[in-house]
Amino acid sequence: MLLYFAGFTGMDVPSNDPLRICDSSCGFSLRRENERPLSGESRAGRTRNRTDCGFQARLPWETSIRRLSIRLKILQVGDPVLRQKARALSNEEIRGAEIQQLIDFMLETMRDAPGVGLAAPQVGISLQLAIIEDRAEYLRDLRPEILAERKREPIPFHVIINPQIQLKDGAPAAFFEGCLSLAGFSAVVPRAAEVVVDCLDRFGEPKQIQAYGWYARILQHEIDHLNGALYLDRMLPRTFTTMEHLNRYWKDKTIAEVESLLAP
Ligand SMILES: [Zn+2]
Repeated sequence: MLLYFAGFTGMDVPSNDPLRICDSSCGFSLRRENERPLSGESRAGRTRNRTDCGFQARLPWETSIRRLSIRLKILQVGDPVLRQKARALSNEEIRGAEIQQLIDFMLETMRDAPGVGLAAPQVGISLQLAIIEDRAEYLRDLRPEILAERKREPIPFHVIINPQIQLKDGAPAAFFEGCLSLAGFSAVVPRAAEVVVDCLDRFGEPKQIQAYGWYARILQHEIDHLNGALYLDRMLPRTFTTMEHLNRYWKDKTIAEVESLLAP
């Protein structure tokens, strides 16, 4: 997941999770954290922070179960899944209920974070599927010159499946970038300024995306996740920083100034 500020604030996963949901063996179990253990269930199992499958839910008790608010666990760097090449999906799988539900859960997770992209491996599911959305409200508090420099515009929600990316020639763009799988950190990452992506949409229909600027960065970041890569593999190592120090020392400087000040 690419942080929606991409390096200008820390975005940890909120921790209000009064309920747990587990879909292991396709059987949802739902209960309050302080509820008595189910029959045959150990106390240790009941009080685990997360379920094995990574599903996590928030739901006021008065809410209908048909309107479950599902938020998935976002894996952090070091989890082997983040370093695996994800498997492609068949058209039959894409149109199936499980993948459609996964997309809905990922959308809720991404908006909750908030982020502008989320790849299935980040929620522990090693499939070639990612979602992207850069909402106008995320851009509202950024200065116009920042938006112009990054060529950043609102991007409607959409799904990319089994993507193939072509990086276009031209000078790469370098900016601070973040990732919710590296919560609390950021670094300058050079990326191609223009890309073309061939992929399937959430209905399995082929589509081609031509993207520039920040949208091109998001696509590269998310497709990297599908191939087991993280921005760590592409960053300028000396620019790696905590979010706190990014905000304190670096965020108002140009990338050229940052590189000059950090030169060995
Ligand atoms: Zn990421």
